[in-house]
Amino acid sequence: MSTIPDASRTRVVLDTNPADTRDVLAEVNLGTAADVARAIERAERAYPAWRDTPAPQRGRILARAAEITRRRVDELARLLTREEGKTLSEARGEILRGVNLLEWYAGEGFRMGGKTRPSEMPTTLLLSLRQPLGVVAIITPWNFPWAEPVWKVAPALVAGNAVILKPASLTPLVAQRFAEVLAEAGLPEGVLILVVGSGAEVGDALVTDPRIRAVSFTGSCEIGGEVYARAARRLAKVTCEMGGKNAVVVMPDADLDLAAAGIAQGAFGSTGQRCTATSLCVVHREAARPLVDRVVDRARAIRVGSGLEEGTGMGPVVDARQLETILRYIELGRQEGARLVTGGRRLEGDGYDHGFFVEPTVFVDVGPAHRIAQEEIFGPVLSVIEVGSLEEALRVTNGVRYGLSASIYAGDANTIMRFVDAVEVGMVHVNSPTVGGEAQIPFGGIKWSGVGGREMAEEGLEFFTELKSVFFDYTGRPRTTNIY
Ligand code: NAP
Repeated sequence: MSTIPDASRTRVVLDTNPADTRDVLAEVNLGTAADVARAIERAERAYPAWRDTPAPQRGRILARAAEITRRRVDELARLLTREEGKTLSEARGEILRGVNLLEWYAGEGFRMGGKTRPSEMPTTLLLSLRQPLGVVAIITPWNFPWAEPVWKVAPALVAGNAVILKPASLTPLVAQRFAEVLAEAGLPEGVLILVVGSGAEVGDALVTDPRIRAVSFTGSCEIGGEVYARAARRLAKVTCEMGGKNAVVVMPDADLDLAAAGIAQGAFGSTGQRCTATSLCVVHREAARPLVDRVVDRARAIRVGSGLEEGTGMGPVVDARQLETILRYIELGRQEGARLVTGGRRLEGDGYDHGFFVEPTVFVDVGPAHRIAQEEIFGPVLSVIEVGSLEEALRVTNGVRYGLSASIYAGDANTIMRFVDAVEVGMVHVNSPTVGGEAQIPFGGIKWSGVGGREMAEEGLEFFTELKSVFFDYTGRPRTTNIY
């Protein structure tokens, strides 16, 4: 395992706490394309021995990494909060989600494999094998700096690949800790190499290098679309998990307290910086008033502050650029004619001056065509759209380019099942928030939210393997028949 490059120190950036930028976590040397080339050479050298390591043994290293992580959860969560900004309890949840994923993929070391099928021919064994690809690249965003690397790296490793990980340059330390945990768990040198650097240089070098057999990317649609096209041009395997514009639909027979709690959690949890964050509330007009009142009460009750402080309900956004984007969307919402019912401002003074804090924000009277109803804001901004029927709710929910996650709060089973069937997303929740995923079930989206395969569960592992079909004739003499 090796980490942040020490060669080619072309540029150094400060890794700071978004709640208080005077708190500097590290000076980070940004790597270059030359560092990527060296990393690939080292990974290629490490690959053959790792490929030949029995899969259960590879899995045991992940199991040990899970144990080490569990022991260090508080320290890792604290670092995550300082680096990314989410609250300590959210950070703890993220670290523990990573533990689940390590545990799941540790078990896959015993299970991964192909299948056997009866042959058309006598005395013939017909089977398929799952084999690793070689050296693969993993490119991750800043908003889940622990869980994202884990959920890609764990399946790639257990499948027998060597991995180059490029974390977001905003959050390299948490990713570095993960690499250190794997090294402590026994991962051989060179099997996982972390290269920190800009997407434009390090990311692009990984995407375009012909020695990289697969690229697993998570991030924005804009960058993901480019990554997909560039890697596909050289026929590499590619998966891109991207943004979302996730709606909660609320019908008149819903439990409105439950719905409001779920909407607030989905919209303002992790400061709205989740791909599965609730960004739209599509509510039947008979329930609109009482629902919005409840959501607004919850938004106003959230204490915004440093995620390290006890009692904080919502941390800062990740950096000045993200804050600017969110404030721009809030202004745009006003200009488009939506009505701001709570929030809308950057928080300043009183301990807020050195961080990037914004109020939990709710707009009503939003139209489905408004940009705040169509585009991913990636901040704590909720847009409420009123509708008159389930079918209209479906048209609004499906009328965005994204297709990651959606949720419905309703009582009637037929209504719920119609929604589950017709909504165009990769993940649908019933009477629960749009957020969350579990190691043992596929995670990901459709349309502009995802392309190239799902993550987590067996599907996440499959991406990092090739299938080889084996036709094993044990007759011992020439065939007299041919099936083709
Ligand atoms: P981003 O700007 O697209 O960056 C994602 C990663 O790609 C970073 O490591 C970035 O590096 C790298 N990158 C940038 N330009 C590149 C290029 N030309 N070639 C290769 N790599 C390049 O996204 P972000 O702002 O970090 O993350 C937020 C986005 O991720 C949101 O849209 C969110 O919805 C999405 N997301 C999706 C999921 C999901 O599972 N669907 C999960 C989490 C987040 P640098 O930043 O270091 O330059």
